[in-house]
Parts: sequence; C-alpha cells; structure tokens
Amino acid sequence: MGINKIQAKSILQKTGIPGFGYAINPYTGCTHGCVYCYARFMKRLTGHTERWGTFLDAKVNAREILKRQLERRRGPIKGGVFLSSVTDLYQPAESLFQLTRGILEVLLEYQVPISILTKSDLVLRDMDLLRQFKECSVGLSLMTTNEGFARRFEPRAPSPARRMQALRKLKEHNIHTYAFISPYLPRLSHIEQLMEALDGLIDEVGIEALNTKEAYWWGVERVLTQYYPELLLGYRQLCKNDRYWNSLERRARLLAAQGNISFMGLYRH
Ligand code: SF4
Repeated sequence: MGINKIQAKSILQKTGIPGFGYAINPYTGCTHGCVYCYARFMKRLTGHTERWGTFLDAKVNAREILKRQLERRRGPIKGGVFLSSVTDLYQPAESLFQLTRGILEVLLEYQVPISILTKSDLVLRDMDLLRQFKECSVGLSLMTTNEGFARRFEPRAPSPARRMQALRKLKEHNIHTYAFISPYLPRLSHIEQLMEALDGLIDEVGIEALNTKEAYWWGVERVLTQYYPELLLGYRQLCKNDRYWNSLERRARLLAAQGNISFMGLYRH
C-alpha cells in the first residue's frame, strides 16, 4: 500500500452533486478498494498508475488550506458541503492523519451545513463535533446485509453490520441519518432485507443503480465470474432494464413510506 503525504492547493471544491455547493475530499484514492468504485477515474486526473485501492495521497495541509479558503470567502456557502465525493473520508488512514477531523473542526467554526457519506464506523469518533453542527446529516452506504457478499465486492471496507451499528449510534445521538443503498446489484442486493435491517436507524434512504459503464463494469464482472457465474448471463442487460428499476423504485418507495422514512429517489446512470 503506497501512502503519500501531499500539499493541496485547494480543498473546498465546487460540485455538481444535486443539493450541494461544494465537496471536500481529504484524500485522493481509497484503500477500501471496492471493485465497482466510480472514483477510480481520479487515477487519470492525478497521474496514478497503481491499481485502484492500493495508493493514497493524504492532503496533509487540508485543515490550513480550508481555513484560508473560508476566510477569503464573502458570504455563506450555498447548498452546504458534501464529504466526500471521490474518496472515503473515514478510511483506515484517517485514524492516523486525522484530516477529516481537522476539516470538521474548521467547518464547525463557520457553522457550514454538511452532509457526510462513508462506509466506515470510524465516523463515530467525531460524534462530539457532529453534534455541534446546526445542519448535519450522516449517511452510511451499503449494498447488502450479507457479510460474505459485501466482502467480495468491498474487500477492505467495514462490514455491513458495523455500518448499521454506526447508524444506530448516530441516531441515538440525534444526528440526522440516511442510508445510501449503493450500488444496488440486481439479484444480489435485496431491498426488503435492507429496509428491514435499517428499520429505526435512518431518516432517509436513497438507492443508486449499478453503473455498468466499461470502466466500472470489469471489476464487477470479475467477481461475478468467480463467485456467481450462474448470474452472469444477461446480467448487464438486466442492469439496463427500465422495468426492473421502475419496479424496484416502486417497492422501495412503498417500504420507505411504511417505515416513515423519506425516500430520496433511485439514481440511474
Ligand atoms: S469506499 Fe467509496 S470511494 Fe472508497 S473504494 Fe469504496 S466506493 Fe470507492
């Protein structure tokens, strides 16, 4: 695993993510190494040639650069800040570098509205800060409740059970929580099981369909070939089938309503 310390020129970056003005990514790369990760396009942008999941650039001046960027701004940040869009801000190296914690301390000083999305229960470490934000939501992303299935697709991310436990603790501390069921894999992810497991843990839920563009598909295909060869035939076509996703969306919306959970929608590529 190659970990580099780098100096970032800017950390608060404009984003096209609906509902947000800016995104912050304390790291480039992600050692969780999910096979379907769409953020691997960052390799191209940053000149990395290593395999996705095996390198990490830690922006060690993140706290200082953010403070400088916020000091220079005139007026509030419209839409709030999303953390993080192309990395996981609570991957294991965060225990060492504490870049996310430093960033949160600065954002708290300015009471910038934030939304966090992670796969890690390390987010609980920062509960003391999160509770002090006037506007804060924390999401955990997961595709399944099945540990073995998750391990094959997300080899170094915390287990689904740990993620759900994190949601439980966040909710107990009155943090606004959401689950992002992403990516949803037909025949492997099960909306009914997921919603049952998430009952009482979340305020909102969203779903993202598996992205089958070539750059993201090959990793998924490799795991399917090795562990679920019986699913392979017609799988990619199923992932492009409108009727399949429309039906899933209807079921998810109904389950969310029954659980008194707000449905954020089903996102397709
Ligand atoms: S945790 Fe997120 S950013 Fe990290 S490898 Fe997995 S999908 Fe990509």
